Amino acid sequence: MKYRKLVVLLISILLVSVLSGYCVPYNDCTSKFDITARRLARKKQPEKKTIEWNTEWTYASFSEIHDDSVVLYYSKAQDRKDIVVCVNAGHGTPGGNSVKTQCHPDGSLKVTGGSTAKGSKYAAAVSSGMTFLDGTPESEVNLSLALILKEKLLEDGYDVLMIRETDNCQIDNVARTVYANENADCHIAIHYDSSSNDKGFFYISVPNVDSYRSMEPVVSHWQEHMDFGEAILSGVIEEDVKIYGDGDMAIDLTQTSYSTVPSVDVEVGDQASDISEAAQEKVAEGIAEGIDQYFQAS
Ligand SMILES: [Zn+2]
Repeated sequence: MKYRKLVVLLISILLVSVLSGYCVPYNDCTSKFDITARRLARKKQPEKKTIEWNTEWTYASFSEIHDDSVVLYYSKAQDRKDIVVCVNAGHGTPGGNSVKTQCHPDGSLKVTGGSTAKGSKYAAAVSSGMTFLDGTPESEVNLSLALILKEKLLEDGYDVLMIRETDNCQIDNVARTVYANENADCHIAIHYDSSSNDKGFFYISVPNVDSYRSMEPVVSHWQEHMDFGEAILSGVIEEDVKIYGDGDMAIDLTQTSYSTVPSVDVEVGDQASDISEAAQEKVAEGIAEGIDQYFQAS
């Protein structure tokens, strides 16, 4: 009889151990459950989400072209950061050059030159972009770099909001900025400059003009734009990419004039730059490194 009780007791102990999943010690068990929960969350997480234009968004009424939607891609990386980077491949809006949008939300005039003259109230909704010496349109080269950057950021754990992935994106510069403001944690626009002396990489910094830096939303965000630009520049320098001068040029841009998240336009090179996949890989690596630096510091 005693022997039978002992067997029942042993079987009960065995059953309890099995049912509790060998949860000894307790900490091991918690981390296993955490990992499982995270895996399940990743599985449930959709690969991407389409985001439609919303006329209620701040500054939405300043946009003239916003027929297309944008796509938010979710990272499948183990250490997903829950940070959304808006990648905006410059140009690629046929017809955008003949439509005008206001340079500043308060109607004030542009404080520097650039592709639109100083003193202008209106600028092209999206300009056509330049052509490389080998005949390739800038919009195409901007897009190929944007697609490389997208994959790198997704691997690094960032979610990526892609403004365009085709050569016909009916979203103007104001709308691109508004999409980023409302759906991303930062905004990076990719361009190459129109010079032809292979001048190197630089970012567009915020002009040091009182009236400009005191206008909303610039007054509340210009420092973030500058810090973001500097972080990206230092990432690109680490990758040994050729840099133009000090690595920045101050221009009054539509993008900066409407941005409410850290926002920068990078000019990766110019008409004479190496635009091979290897060269773009290096630049994308540097930009991704800079984005890491920015979010680690902030
Ligand atoms: Zn451009």
